[in-house]
Amino acid sequence: MRRKPEKLDRDTARALIKKVRQDPPFPGMTPHETTAFEQSACQHCGGLHARNCPAVEEVEYHTDGKVKRVRFRAWFDDSRVLWLDDVIEAAQLDQAD
Ligand SMILES: [Zn+2]
Repeated sequence: MRRKPEKLDRDTARALIKKVRQDPPFPGMTPHETTAFEQSACQHCGGLHARNCPAVEEVEYHTDGKVKRVRFRAWFDDSRVLWLDDVIEAAQLDQAD
């Protein structure tokens, strides 16, 4: 069973999923909306976590530094990963006061 995000308070959760305008990568392109969560989410597992992605077993690189191949673990401990569902759930919690 997935661990609940006990330490994520409602205000932090709301800040993570608040829509912010992102400047376009090139002039002339339309700016789009994103969230702090989307901007910081791991490119491999899609969650938020510190340090290495727990889902990744091994990364192989080309000589130019670009990623050649990523091998994922069949199972990984996601107790230190904050998933978007967890953030949305925490953002909807009523404040206990
Ligand atoms: Zn990850």
